[in-house]
Amino acid sequence: MKQEQEVAVRAVRLAAQVCIAVQNRLVTSDSIAKKDKSPVTIADFASQAMVSHLLSSAFPHIPLVGEEDASTLRENTDLAAKMMAAIHDVLPQLDQQTALQAIDRGTHEGGPQGRHWTLDPIDGTKGFLRGDQYAIALALIEDGEVVLGVLGCPNLDFDAANKGAIFVASKGQGAQVLPLDEAVAPPQDISVAKVEDISMARFCESVEAAHSSHSDAAKIAQILGITAPPYRIDSQCKYAAVSRGDAAIYLRLPTRPGYVERIWDHAAGVCVIQEAGGRVSDIYGNKLDFSIGRGLDKNKGVIVTNGQFHQQVLAAVQQVLGI
Ligand code: AMP
Ligand code: MG
Repeated sequence: MKQEQEVAVRAVRLAAQVCIAVQNRLVTSDSIAKKDKSPVTIADFASQAMVSHLLSSAFPHIPLVGEEDASTLRENTDLAAKMMAAIHDVLPQLDQQTALQAIDRGTHEGGPQGRHWTLDPIDGTKGFLRGDQYAIALALIEDGEVVLGVLGCPNLDFDAANKGAIFVASKGQGAQVLPLDEAVAPPQDISVAKVEDISMARFCESVEAAHSSHSDAAKIAQILGITAPPYRIDSQCKYAAVSRGDAAIYLRLPTRPGYVERIWDHAAGVCVIQEAGGRVSDIYGNKLDFSIGRGLDKNKGVIVTNGQFHQQVLAAVQQVLGI
């Protein structure tokens, strides 16, 4: 797993460089440009192209379940040219045909057998567009179990002096945080927070109310005696926050009946949390099942805790949701 982890971290670091450059252009441009979603599209495609290319060069036989495919780019040559320009700032030798093929490697269906990578090239696109938090989320799944998770969080602080953090975990090896700029500090072991009383536990949730019910979360917090306001943050940065103790609970509560969570939105985060000592289940208390395909079809909602309070939180969730 050492080699897989090394390559995965290198790929996420490179993708982060492109995402940072595109987001910087976005936040410094005028407000009309901010409403235009194409910058995030360019960064999304560039990120998947680069990560997929690096992974397939090192491990040609491990397929990829990625969020994007290249059909839009094959129809829109202007978009493809802009993506290539973004890639060439970081990987000058990658040609367009190879980049599009690399993106299309992401169409694998996943499933219960063997190994596959799963990638969200930019998780939290709404946050990315606002100039806030987002993540590059990469995980390796083996026979339905997540065995490696890498979460690149370019806008999360590594420490007071350094912005940008990468959270890494391999099954059975614990979890670490690395600075995005590897020169500034060595990796640090991380673990979830120990909280004396559940009423002191801080919880995090999506910024976007369409992704997780804020009103149900408020009722759950009230039952648990939590009075601190929620820590609202986009993307799998919520898993990162709980894994190093910035918060103790992450609630992702269903907003509409038919929504099926995607594996790339959770796989990396789950591995990091579990290796940091935390627990993850759905709202019924079931383990997230990564063995089905591209979706978590057998689960509903996601509950993450520092482990200490999982049963209490689950009981409050089920009371509020009437299940
Ligand atoms: P977050 O930044 O945590 O709010 O989550 C962003 C992710 O939410 C995106 O990657 C989407 O895949 C996912 N998403 C989109 N619609 C929904 C929904 N109705 N419920 C839960 N997640 C959603
Ligand atoms: Mg996502």
